[in-house]
Amino acid sequence: MRPPILFPLFADVSTLKGVGPKALPLVQKLAGPLVRDVLFLSPSGVVVRRPMTAVNAVEGQVGIFEVMIDRLILPGKPGVPIKVRASDQTGFVHLIWFGGSGQHIDRLLPRGETRLVSGKVERFNNEVQIVHPDVFKPSEADEIAAVEPVYPATQGLTSRTIRKLAQQALALAPELPEWQDPAWLAKQQWASWREAIAALHTPTGERDLEPDAPARERLAYDELFAHQLALARRRRARLITPAPVIRPGEASDRLLTALPFTLTGAQQRAVEDIRHDLASGEQMGRLLQGDVGSGKTAVAALALADAAASGFQAALMAPTEILARQHYQRLAPMLEAAGVPTVLLTGRDSQAERRPKLAALADGQAKVAIGTHALFQDAVRFDRLGLAVIDEQHRFGVNERARLQAKGDPRTGGVHLLTMSATPIPRTLELTQYGELDVSRLTEKPPGRTPVTTAVLPLARIGEVARRLKAALDDGAQAYWICPLVAESEASDLAAAEARAADLRRILQVEVGLAHGQMPGPEREAVMADFADGRTPLLVATTVVEVGVDVPNASIMVIEHADRFGLAQLHQLRGRVGRGAKASTCLLLYGGGDDGLGETAKTRLETLRRTEDGFEIAEEDFRLRGGGDPLGLKQSGFPAYRFADPIRHRGLMLAAADDARLVLGRDPDLLSPRGEAVKVLEALFDWRNDRFALD
Ligand code: ADP
Ligand code: MG
Repeated sequence: MRPPILFPLFADVSTLKGVGPKALPLVQKLAGPLVRDVLFLSPSGVVVRRPMTAVNAVEGQVGIFEVMIDRLILPGKPGVPIKVRASDQTGFVHLIWFGGSGQHIDRLLPRGETRLVSGKVERFNNEVQIVHPDVFKPSEADEIAAVEPVYPATQGLTSRTIRKLAQQALALAPELPEWQDPAWLAKQQWASWREAIAALHTPTGERDLEPDAPARERLAYDELFAHQLALARRRRARLITPAPVIRPGEASDRLLTALPFTLTGAQQRAVEDIRHDLASGEQMGRLLQGDVGSGKTAVAALALADAAASGFQAALMAPTEILARQHYQRLAPMLEAAGVPTVLLTGRDSQAERRPKLAALADGQAKVAIGTHALFQDAVRFDRLGLAVIDEQHRFGVNERARLQAKGDPRTGGVHLLTMSATPIPRTLELTQYGELDVSRLTEKPPGRTPVTTAVLPLARIGEVARRLKAALDDGAQAYWICPLVAESEASDLAAAEARAADLRRILQVEVGLAHGQMPGPEREAVMADFADGRTPLLVATTVVEVGVDVPNASIMVIEHADRFGLAQLHQLRGRVGRGAKASTCLLLYGGGDDGLGETAKTRLETLRRTEDGFEIAEEDFRLRGGGDPLGLKQSGFPAYRFADPIRHRGLMLAAADDARLVLGRDPDLLSPRGEAVKVLEALFDWRNDRFALD
């Protein structure tokens, strides 16, 4: 329920003066449907207006002149601007319009009248002129601020119109109860929300537009806090869903013994986290974060065995056929030996193959199902599904995960969820994208890995690279060759990869596989499988190399135009080598022709040479890339914040996340006075039916 105090801000934007049928769609598109959305538009700049006269006009600055209108000079031929000559005591000021109707301008600037005109001063033929000036009547003088916010104008909607709308919205904005913790607020020395939003629309200079200006920080924090509250609420909703109590048993012990290695400390800690959740009677929602090769599968396998040991079924879902098969081939023998019947379910099964598997899952004889998207299809029924594990979770949609989870038995409660991701992301992003999940991180690599030697070379040395590669391949090594990601088009990516594969086939005289994004899935997987099984020694690929595919014999990774990839992406690509006993090499080739490598690019590639720690690399990448949307986060379900910048406001994000969990922990129903205020904040940032929606 929306608190009445917010009603004025949730009025339709068409109730603002000046929003007629023509402007309405434009305003809706720019800001959104509500008065609040106009209020939440931030200025993108300021103009500082200086009072000037014709004689002391300063070129290049924005001046305001009080002038008398002398005459309208209509152009004699097309292409010549409309001109109005005006004057003050000291000389002439020429006002210029390209396009526009003489009639309109004549009405705006009637001859003999006094007007205030403002704009950037130019000099042309030694005359003072202003192109497309703002024009005010003397009676409007108090509308003209010395410092005026500039809004991102669009076609048909000027900054000035938006400013007027923003001022109206501001006038409607009430004082709201304080939702921030008083001690925190005092420490930050922030003003009230009302003062902060007013300051947003009345900047006193450029400085006030910076992300660390106090008003901007306060608004950013409010927004982050509102978002984190929403995530914390979802988390609480999950936690109050009853779920099966799952404890390790004999099958778990037998699986642990069957593993050909002992768990790393990080794996043990993750297993403990998961076991704690599974035994709690509350529904688990946990993200297992771990770099490529950090050993997530073993952790997942133990959870599968635990579920079986407690009399429940479990499912492990992977995004591709090849990954699902790899999991099945590795895990099924161990699970079966531990007394856990396991089936593989993929889209490629024939009806005859599938029928007995489906029957075994439905009557509970099979305890674990490993598979692809096939797992969440309607035909698949479980007897007592207790746990769903999703590998490479970002490759699935929210709905797909939910469909698998929905296969639980209502009598035993919700299905526990373990999702796994090999994309190391900075903690701030983790909080934004997965705020409602609990996170375990595998920060330690299994022992026995030979570190990957990384070298950064100019593309000009490609001949030498090919010679070294030839020697290594002749020696029985396998290699990946990743082709440049060209921004222009997928077709040219493909052409580049095809040409490179042909070159290498000719020069190296070996079988060369080619995998790219435009290949049909099964065909690509066949190419990958040939490489994985050692039938082709060299695989040329665009970035589509399957995440998670484990080819321990591959020990060389060549990345062409490494400077065109993101650091995290390079790190992931590199993670495909260094998985076996062989010493591995990653060659980062940069630049084409004779263009050198910029400083940032150098620092970035240097980071990769220095460290193999995915989390460190992710933080560094995040830091180096600065603002904007460098990671393509918006496409990946990252919220489009209006005030907050996850990079510049990362400290605030962490604080807001703590604050949100604390508030809901202490006062789950928000009944205290602060709780009541927090409800107002939640309603203020209510994203429902909004183009800034979170999901
Ligand atoms: P990812 O986290 O990328 O899914 P995997 O689970 O595929 O990693 O593990 C990568 C490789 O490391 C596998 O070959 C696996 O058998 C091996 N491995 C996993 N855990 C350990 C460990 N504790 N000690 C030694 N090797 C391990
Ligand atoms: Mg994996």
